[in-house]
Amino acid sequence: MFVSGQASDKNIVDFNLLSVKQFRKHQNSLNLSDIANIGKTWDKHRANAELVSNYYAAAGDHELNNYAWRIKICSEFLEFKLSPEEAGGIFKLKLLRTKFCRVRHCPVCQWRRSLMWKAKAYKILPQVVTDYPKYRWLFVTLTVKNCQISELRTTLDGMNKAFKRLTELKAWSAKGWVKSLEVTKGRDGVSAHPHLHILAMVQPSYFSHGYLSQVKWVTLWQQCLRIDYQPVVHISAIAKHHDPTILIPEILKYQVKESDLIADREWFLELTRQLYKTRAIAVGGVLKHYMRELEKKNQDLINCGEEMDEVNQETVSFQWDHKLHKYKTEG
Ligand SMILES: [Zn+2]
Repeated sequence: MFVSGQASDKNIVDFNLLSVKQFRKHQNSLNLSDIANIGKTWDKHRANAELVSNYYAAAGDHELNNYAWRIKICSEFLEFKLSPEEAGGIFKLKLLRTKFCRVRHCPVCQWRRSLMWKAKAYKILPQVVTDYPKYRWLFVTLTVKNCQISELRTTLDGMNKAFKRLTELKAWSAKGWVKSLEVTKGRDGVSAHPHLHILAMVQPSYFSHGYLSQVKWVTLWQQCLRIDYQPVVHISAIAKHHDPTILIPEILKYQVKESDLIADREWFLELTRQLYKTRAIAVGGVLKHYMRELEKKNQDLINCGEEMDEVNQETVSFQWDHKLHKYKTEG
């Protein structure tokens, strides 16, 4: 079975040259970040979750205050499976148990969701390539002008309608596609830049029949948006017989960059209101059949890819220290 190195490895931690003996000796006073690179990643996301929780707590809105409490206790406690490597001495960690808050913009849950989506896509896409070996893959980014953050919802609504019109055009030759939404903070620090990333699978003959130049893409996107300016569109193609999985990190990255989430409280709170119940990822055409799971709610954020041997299982637990901003073993 094909399992992504990149996505699934995030779950596994190498105890850099730490022996079993050393580990047990220091077991009561270890920082997750001291024994594993992934520890720094956990600390970073968890510290940002703290910030976001504080933003929600100060929102003066019952619903958002509720998010604050949920995020506050998100992944406070992590339990990993500990299994010695065959090579001897070195440990691996796999997340076994924790409680995720599942609040949409929680930095920890957003990170886990992205890992989970990627792990799934890395499994599924090779199957699509096997079933449609001659099809070509395009990566298209459809944008509009920046909008005020207060107009984000209306803008997205217009973009999604325009995309639907695009897929109904005769010129649209994609057999299947994945569409993901990304919103970045405008350079002015107040506006929002929403854009759609599309991974599209097109007919093997696309480059000889029905090929759309960049100029043509712009014209069609403008027409579908029903706007009076030329929108920016980026297109790239995967070379013939090359693997589309290299596009997975681009297409399934965060909906909103973590640095944008934490940069400004008011922008963030308005973003939350504007994106409420909007859809992050949609799948169309023949890919729907393969990737339906990507659209599901309440997905498994613990098992993001790999399987491990259940034999000789030992576990190790870490607690989030709210003051030190570190995960520590419980001493
Ligand atoms: Zn969370």
